[in-house]
Amino acid sequence: MIDRARALALLHARIRACTKCVDAGYLDRAQPIVAGSIRDRIAIIGQAPGEVELTTGKPFSGRAGAELRRWLAEAGIDEDHLPYRTAITKCFPGKSPTGSGDRRPSPPEIALCAPWLENELALLKPRVILLVGGLAIERFWGKVSLESAVGTARVQDGVTYVPLPHPSGASRWLNDPAHRVLLHKGLGHLRRAARALDSPSRGRTMQIRR
Ligand code: SF4
Repeated sequence: MIDRARALALLHARIRACTKCVDAGYLDRAQPIVAGSIRDRIAIIGQAPGEVELTTGKPFSGRAGAELRRWLAEAGIDEDHLPYRTAITKCFPGKSPTGSGDRRPSPPEIALCAPWLENELALLKPRVILLVGGLAIERFWGKVSLESAVGTARVQDGVTYVPLPHPSGASRWLNDPAHRVLLHKGLGHLRRAARALDSPSRGRTMQIRR
């Protein structure tokens, strides 16, 4: 455990020193943000940090993060036990040119950042992964509509994947009451997966729960 903890600390240091997107001309400034401990068995994968996170240095610390923490609380996960928090790309990508929310990282930026996430997951070996927002869902679940993914959970190789919408107010998806029902269903899956973490009878085959 100590070796893995040291390896994760080293990985975090390497991530925080990363300037690949600046060097490639995609970002003016790199400030990679990631947080968590090797003991975390639940990991949250979002899209990318927001502007607020630039000042706090912690993932999900802005308004969207506050909403996400309310969702976690509904699933029985409190502030003192926040999961590992990372993202598809780890630097603030800037505001969207449309003026609504943050810019979606481009495929080349995602490709540049992907090895960091792969290394994090390989070291952490989380048992439950929350896929927060379309980009994370697309990477780990496939290119599907939010309606078809949120409200379900998939168990694959002993890892439970729970897709959730992005908690940012920029997303209108949650304005539909039917979508909020799906969100609460998804949080129910998260609650059960978090409770089952100590159960030895977790299957390795793929199954989808609805
Ligand atoms: S987004 Fe990822 S690859 Fe790009 S500079 Fe930040 S940490 Fe490095």
